[in-house]
Amino acid sequence: MINYKIVQEELGNIKQITEEEKIKKLSQDYYYFSPILSEKLADKTGDLVLQPTSEDEILHIAKICVKHQIPITIRGAGTGNYGQCIPLNGGIILDMTEMNKIQWIKSGIARVEAGVKMSILEREANKQGWELRMIPSTYKIATLGGFIGGGSGGIGSINYGQLRDRGNVHKVKVVTLEKEPRIIELIGDETQQINHAYGTNGIITEIEIPLAPAYNWSDFIVVFDDFMNAVKFGQVLSDSDGIIKKLVSIHAYPIPNYFLALKPYLPQGKSCAFLTIADNSFLPLQELVKEFRGEITYNPQDKQEKPLQLIEFTWNHTTFHARNIDPNLTYLQTFFWNLEQVEKMYKHFGDEVMIHLEFLRVGGKAIPAGLQLVKFTSEKRLNEIIKYHEDNGANIANPHTYILEDGGRKKVEPEQLKFKRMVDPFGLMNQGKMRAWNQ
Ligand SMILES: Cc1cc2nc3c(=O)[nH]c(=O)nc-3n(C[C@H](O)[C@H](O)[C@H](O)COP(=O)(O)OP(=O)(O)OC[C@H]3O[C@@H](n4cnc5c(N)ncnc54)[C@H](O)[C@@H]3O)c2cc1C
Repeated sequence: MINYKIVQEELGNIKQITEEEKIKKLSQDYYYFSPILSEKLADKTGDLVLQPTSEDEILHIAKICVKHQIPITIRGAGTGNYGQCIPLNGGIILDMTEMNKIQWIKSGIARVEAGVKMSILEREANKQGWELRMIPSTYKIATLGGFIGGGSGGIGSINYGQLRDRGNVHKVKVVTLEKEPRIIELIGDETQQINHAYGTNGIITEIEIPLAPAYNWSDFIVVFDDFMNAVKFGQVLSDSDGIIKKLVSIHAYPIPNYFLALKPYLPQGKSCAFLTIADNSFLPLQELVKEFRGEITYNPQDKQEKPLQLIEFTWNHTTFHARNIDPNLTYLQTFFWNLEQVEKMYKHFGDEVMIHLEFLRVGGKAIPAGLQLVKFTSEKRLNEIIKYHEDNGANIANPHTYILEDGGRKKVEPEQLKFKRMVDPFGLMNQGKMRAWNQ
C-alpha cells in the first residue's frame, strides 16, 4: 500500500494536483471514440497528478516512484485516442505540459522540451521560414512528446511519411526508472525505441526534430459527383510532384453532412476533398480539378471572408465532428495499398462504413489511409468488418485496443522490449499497455 502522504512530503516543491475531480479529468483521453474502450476505461483514474517544470524535478519524481514502487503514467495534452495515457492501476500521472521551453531553432532543426504545444513550436518555426514536417489535427493543444509517444502522422505526412520513418526524429533525452534513475540520450535510429511506445519505456524530456521549409498555404474544398473519381483525383494529386501540397483528405458522401460549419461549400449528394496547397500551385491544381470533373467550392484566394481552417475537419477530427451529430459512430484506421481495395470496401459496406481517406507517404509511395466512420452495432460486427478488410489485403491499425502490440504494430518490437527491460526494470511505466512485458 503506497502512503501518498509520505510521497507528497518527499516531492517538496514539485507542483501537485490532489483534487479528485481534477485528477480524474487528467487521467482521461479521447478513448471514448471507441465503444469498446469506453466500457473498459471509463472508471480508471490516477492517485496524484504532478506537473514538473524541469528535468531535475522529473529525475526526483522518478527516484520517488522507484523507491515506493508507484505506477507512473505520462501525459501530454491527453488527446490520444486509445486510452494511451489512462492509468490502469492508479499511481502518479505525470503531466508534461509545463515542460514546454523551446531551446533553439536553427538550420531547420528545433530542440524543445517534450511538453511544448505543437502550435507554439509551429509559430516560432514560421518566424524563421520553417514549419513542422507533420502535425496531428489536434496540433493546437497536442504536445510534441505526446505526438512521438502516441501519435503517428498527420498533415504533412503526404510529403514526409510518418514519425516512425528514419530522419523524422533526430534525438531524444529520456529519464529512466532504473534503481538509480538517470538521463540518457538516444540519437537517430535509437529513437525508435521510444517512438509510439505509449510512454512505457522512459520519460521523454527533450526532443530534437528536423523541420520543413514553410510555404504560403491555402485550404481548398473540391466536390465530386462520384466518390471513386474523388479518390482517383486524390491519388493523382498526391503523386503530382510539381504540385506542392500538405493535405489530401477525401470524404465519401454522406460524410460531408456531418460538417455543419462548412455546409455552404458542400452540396447535397457530393463527395468532397479538403486540400492544403501552396499558393504557387493553384494554377496546376485548377487544371487537375478540371481533368477529374470536380468543382472548387471554397477558394480563399477568391473570397473576402476569413480563411477556413480545414485541418480541423480532417484526420481524426472528421470522427470528432461526425460523433458530435451521431455518438453511435466509431472509426477504423486502415492502410489501403491500392484504389481497388478502397472501391471494393466502398461497394461492399455502403453507408455502414463511410470512407474517409488521408493520403500519406509510406515507403516513398503515396497511399490512401482510411479513417472510416463505422455505424456501430456490436463488437462482433466490428470485428467482422475488420476481418473482411484484412482478408482483402488492407491492414487495420485497430483503434479499439489500448494494448500497444494489438493496435498498429501487430507484433512485439524486440528493441522496445529490450529497452524497457533496461530503463523500466520494475515495470512501473504505463502498466498493462505493453503485452510483451505483461507476459
Ligand atoms: C480529434 C482528434 C484528432 C486526432 N488527429 C490525429 C492525427 O492527425 N494524427 C495523429 O497521429 N494523431 C491524432 N490524434 C491523436 C492525438 O491527438 C495525437 O497523437 C497527439 O499528438 C497526442 O499528443 P498529446 O500531447 O495529446 O499526447 P497524450 O495523449 O497526452 O499522450 C500520448 C501517449 O504518449 C505518451 N507520452 C506523452 N508525453 C510523453 C513523454 N514526454 N514521454 C514519453 N511518453 C509520453 C503518453 O503516455 C501516451 O501514451 C487525434 C486525436 C483526436 C482526439
